Amino acid sequence: MAAAISDRFAAVRAELARACVAAGRDPGDVRLLAVSKTQPLSSIVEALQSAQLDFGENYAQELRDKSAALASDSRLGESAKNVRWHFIGPLQRNKVNLVAGRVSLIHSVDSLALVAALAGRITRLRESDSTLTQDCLIEVNVGDESQKAGCSPSELAPILDAIAASEGRLRCRGLMCLPPQVDEPEAVRPYFRKLRELAQNAAQTPRPHVELRELSMGMSHDFPVAVAEGATIVRVGTALFGARGPA
Ligand SMILES: *Cc1c(COP(=O)(O)O)cnc(C)c1O
Repeated sequence: MAAAISDRFAAVRAELARACVAAGRDPGDVRLLAVSKTQPLSSIVEALQSAQLDFGENYAQELRDKSAALASDSRLGESAKNVRWHFIGPLQRNKVNLVAGRVSLIHSVDSLALVAALAGRITRLRESDSTLTQDCLIEVNVGDESQKAGCSPSELAPILDAIAASEGRLRCRGLMCLPPQVDEPEAVRPYFRKLRELAQNAAQTPRPHVELRELSMGMSHDFPVAVAEGATIVRVGTALFGARGPA
């Protein structure tokens, strides 16, 4: 029988805490993001019962449908209201309306066109909520893979400049990466290190509404290595929820 979700959460949290201690870091400085894509709502409810509040989704419609279903589930009470949704998948410009202004953090901003589309959407939403802002991370294609989402390192500065010019419609909180898939977790270490160095270099140029504090990196099989390289958010799916069904 598959392990209960509460047991899986306990095991991953313990491993995360060990990784922090081993790296000389405070466990409170690394957030566990539960990647719930393609998982049923019942699994999210179980995770909520294990005091998990940060959930990551990859598909805009799935995020909209799940967040609406949770919010209207009267059995869940207060905890459902405190859920923080994160959008971590590739974001098409025609799906921006489903995501902008509805999530705590978008991890996958990777082009000037997407910055413009998001800022435009926030401008419209500001007609009813004048202080609205959208926090995001810039996804960098650290492995320089042709099929992968993410900007190249050389595109990072212009994207940050565009966010700085958005007058607070968008706020950049840091960087995200999805390194090349390799069997050996140690082999991804250079990519995690590269993301940290890119953030450190970019932070030398102060820009309004740009803070490069968050590093979203590390998944089920390699998050301890990411923690050793400075991750502040680890995105864990399979290790918490078990294998995924088809999308
Ligand atoms: C699916 C996914 C994850 C989680 O992957 P696991 O290997 O299941 O932990 C993390 N980040 C992104 C961007 C994903 O798409």
